Amino acid sequence: MGAFPHPNKADLIVVRRKRGLVEPGGPLALYFRTQALYAHLTEEPMDRRKFLVNSGIVGAGVLGAGAAVPGVLQATARSEADPNLNLEEKPVAFTVPPLLYPFDALEPHIDAKTMEIHHDKHHGAYVTNLNKALEGHADLQAKSIDDLMKGLDSIPENIRTAVRNNGGGHWNHSLFWQLMKKGGGGEPKGDLLAGINTTFGSFAGFQEKFKAAATGRFGSGWAWLLVKDGKLAIDSTANQDTQYIAGGKAVLGLDVWEHAYYLKYQNRRPDYVDAWWHVVNWDKAAELYAAARS
Ligand code: MN
Repeated sequence: MGAFPHPNKADLIVVRRKRGLVEPGGPLALYFRTQALYAHLTEEPMDRRKFLVNSGIVGAGVLGAGAAVPGVLQATARSEADPNLNLEEKPVAFTVPPLLYPFDALEPHIDAKTMEIHHDKHHGAYVTNLNKALEGHADLQAKSIDDLMKGLDSIPENIRTAVRNNGGGHWNHSLFWQLMKKGGGGEPKGDLLAGINTTFGSFAGFQEKFKAAATGRFGSGWAWLLVKDGKLAIDSTANQDTQYIAGGKAVLGLDVWEHAYYLKYQNRRPDYVDAWWHVVNWDKAAELYAAARS
C-alpha cells in the first residue's frame, strides 16, 4: 500500500458560504457539493486547479473578481482535519481525513491491512452515510461535525439516529487516527502524567482501569479517558456515541469494535488493548488534556 493514502485530499476544496450569497441548497451550492462528492466517491482527489478548471472559473477570470466581490465564493486549501475544530469553513460534504502516517506505521501492534480497511472502508462508510442522511438539509450540512454531535437533540427525528451513528463514527475515528503514531507508546509526561497519578494512583493503575473499561464494554463501542468536571475520568460508550454522550472531553479514545482488531487478534480484545499502548500518541493526548482544562 502507498505511503500516504490520499495525497491530495488535504487540498480538497472548501467553500466558504456567506449567507445570502451562495444560498445553501441553491443551485450554486449544489453544484459545488456535487463536484466535491464526485471527487470523494471516485477517490480521485481534486486539487484546486482541477476544481477551477472543471467549474470553468479559471478561463472566466473570476478568481480575481472573487476577491473584489467579498464572500461570493472563496476556495481555500483545507487545513489539517480535526473534529474539534469549529471553523467557519468546512468542506461542502464531509470527507475522511487522510491518515498522517502509512497504513503499516503501527506494525506489529496494529497491522497494515486492518488500518487500511478501518480507515478507508469503515470510516469511509460512516462519512458516506452521514452525507446521505444530511441530503436535503442544507442547514445541517453547513455545520461542523462537532456542532452536529453537540446538538443531536435539534436534529430532525427521522435522521437523528443515522446522524448519531454515522456522524459519531466520523467524529470518533477522526480523533482516533490522531491518537496513534509510529513510535508512539511509552508514558505520558508533564501535566497529563501528574493528573493520571492524582486520579488513578499510578500510570499502571490507570492502564488497568482503562483496560477494564475497554474489555468490559459489551459489544461495540469506545473506551475513553475524559476530562469531566475538570478531573480525569474513565468511561465507555456504546456503538459510535461520542464524548458528548459520555459527558466529558476526550483525552484518549480507543475503538473496541471488532473491526478494529479482528484480523490480528480475533476474539482477544484484551491483547489488542495491551498492544494499543505501544502506539498511543501521548503528545496528542497531552494537547487534548490541556485544551479540555483551559
Ligand atoms: Mn472503528
